[in-house]
Amino acid sequence: MAKRDYYEILGVSRDADEKEIKKAYRKLAMKYHPDRNPDDQDAEARFKEASEAYEVLADGEKRAAYDQFGHAGVDGQAGGAGGFGGFGGGGASFSDIFGDVFGDIFGGGRGRSNRGADLRYTLDLDLEDAVKGKTVEIEIPGHTECGRCDGSGAEKGSTAETCGTCRGMGQVRMQQGFFAVQQACPNCRGSGKVIKNPCKDCGGAGRVEETKTLSVKVPPGVDTGDRIRLNGEGEMGLDGGPPGDLYVEVAVREHRIFTRDGRHLYCEVPISIVDAALGGELEVPTLDGRVKLKIPPETQTGKLFRLRNKGVTPVRGGPAGDLLCRVIVETPVKLTKRQKELMEEFQQTLKGENGSSHAPRKTSWFEGVKSFFDEMKF
Ligand SMILES: [Zn+2]
Ligand SMILES: [Zn+2]
Repeated sequence: MAKRDYYEILGVSRDADEKEIKKAYRKLAMKYHPDRNPDDQDAEARFKEASEAYEVLADGEKRAAYDQFGHAGVDGQAGGAGGFGGFGGGGASFSDIFGDVFGDIFGGGRGRSNRGADLRYTLDLDLEDAVKGKTVEIEIPGHTECGRCDGSGAEKGSTAETCGTCRGMGQVRMQQGFFAVQQACPNCRGSGKVIKNPCKDCGGAGRVEETKTLSVKVPPGVDTGDRIRLNGEGEMGLDGGPPGDLYVEVAVREHRIFTRDGRHLYCEVPISIVDAALGGELEVPTLDGRVKLKIPPETQTGKLFRLRNKGVTPVRGGPAGDLLCRVIVETPVKLTKRQKELMEEFQQTLKGENGSSHAPRKTSWFEGVKSFFDEMKF
């Protein structure tokens, strides 16, 4: 069977530019792709044919050779020579060459992408705001399309020209030993366009730096490491590509009173030796205000009191956590002479060896040490 003309296969004229060729190929590829036409040999043949035509016509050098010599000029180079086996697996040559086309169609592909980069922003929050939620304004440094040239990069009255070296593909094929490799076009640095008269505002980049202010609604209950994704608020795309996303990552600041562990909040509550011994009532802070905490008599230092549901309601739902107050019994300082006398007098009243009947922990500790020494035969 005689090989059909590549322009005919794609249904484009001989002077079609790279955009028309790409468009025509995409249309055919969408229609005849094996994934969409399982077990259809005719579709597969047409797909191969179109892919082969595209590989030649999309490549400046090959297209020139084809224009001059016909199929003889490119035979043995194009994919028709056997490079197109097994589509599902995506052979190297396949995704290298068509990655930019299929990246658009099938959402995959590892070819050049003109989607803007995702951005990450660390949002420092006070614990109160993380727990209760807050709308915060954040400033994101980034880029926006240049208004003067509408993103084209070319000064008013002029246009960007298609790069002659790569015919606008942005890539050139280089032969290195046995391998033909795609490289970014050295003339246009991969953009496919040459700007002779660059825009005065953006210097030809087509975009200008701009800090944008965004209002971010932080839901209640977030914690350090939680991420909020803002669709399309990342870096702007190139050549009309879609923008990336912005990920706002929460970092909760240390709080002077509370520490947080998931749903639960912890705080230390210092109490006097008298309150610890006789019992008492004191006020402890919560994130909503204050609550009364009853200290029973004979409370030891380090005891944990649980205030139910005074913790955090998690952002992903579920019951609120608790507030856990750890009582720390303080040794009194700066005692007057009179106070010291009273302490000594008090000490005389204590019963047992070293007042042991009044010091349960000390007693059990001494007993533990004694049995330890006995066992070790110190
Ligand atoms: Zn501009
Ligand atoms: Zn170029």
